[in-house]
Amino acid sequence: MRALRITAPNTATVLDRPDPQPGPGDVLIRIERAGLCGTDVALFRGTMPYLADGRTTLPLQPGHEWAGRVVAVGDGVTTATPGDLVTGDTFIGCGHCDRCTSGRHHLCPEHLELGVLGQLDGALAELLVLPERAVHRLPPGVDADLGAMVEPASCSLRGVRLTDPGPDDRVLVWGAGTLGMFAALFAAQTGATVTVAARRESDRGFAAGFGLDTRDPEELGDERFDVIIEATGSSDVTRRLLDNATAGVRIALLGVPSGDAGLPSGTLIARDATVHAVLGGSASIDEAASRFATMPDTVRRLIGTVITLDEVPQVLADGLPRATGAGPKTQIRF
Ligand SMILES: [Zn+2]
Ligand SMILES: [Zn+2]
Repeated sequence: MRALRITAPNTATVLDRPDPQPGPGDVLIRIERAGLCGTDVALFRGTMPYLADGRTTLPLQPGHEWAGRVVAVGDGVTTATPGDLVTGDTFIGCGHCDRCTSGRHHLCPEHLELGVLGQLDGALAELLVLPERAVHRLPPGVDADLGAMVEPASCSLRGVRLTDPGPDDRVLVWGAGTLGMFAALFAAQTGATVTVAARRESDRGFAAGFGLDTRDPEELGDERFDVIIEATGSSDVTRRLLDNATAGVRIALLGVPSGDAGLPSGTLIARDATVHAVLGGSASIDEAASRFATMPDTVRRLIGTVITLDEVPQVLADGLPRATGAGPKTQIRF
């Protein structure tokens, strides 16, 4: 099969690798679509925190946003069948510790993260093997293009659920990338009043096209919000999050900063703030996928750029593209 590997900082190549084989309990999938995100760029550039602390090493095969078709299953697999259109969980726990058996396998001390942590080969390849428990069948009406959007949407949905906005709440979402757009759209579905803060005028215009209220960050002034969702990963944003917080604010952190984001603990206490730091969306995968079935056109508009596997090294080197007025997500068509 053909696969993309990051071999050293700022070096990625597409090469032939042996086809993976499904062992007992495993599912073999032919990838149809995959997405690129900031984590993949950070792995390529060598700035991903896991590389700094030695939890991940190069070379690695990235890719954790994907959809594909089951082509074979190993012995004992009962929930996946060849032909199924599926996506999957980035987080794979040991399957038997307290955390794995209580629905918190993303916190398993031995967990792996597909294409990110633990040298588990990711989805930027023609074929992928995953344990059955990490494979999720897509509902009717959700095709592979949309299926590869489920992973980022599940992270945003979890952030929205943890901060629990409602019709009386004002919500501020920082960032109009994929995570920010999904957070804003899911928050708006609760009846809350949602504002998206984005620096670039074209990004604000894009969010406004979905009926969302937008602000240039410099125009926020002393506006106050009950829920604040950080989806930029910028330390500058994190440091100023509380400038626009009500007392009792609920905050979700979705964007991964490359270093210490410097949340001011004294102000957090003064605001009686609740901060949810969101490590993935494992618990929200099926719900995100079933919501997609009710909003397929909305989700499709977030896909802005579609490339081939051979174009990925150049895109990683250049940074993820975002044309004016186009959606934030870059996908790979197989
Ligand atoms: Zn991602
Ligand atoms: Zn475990």
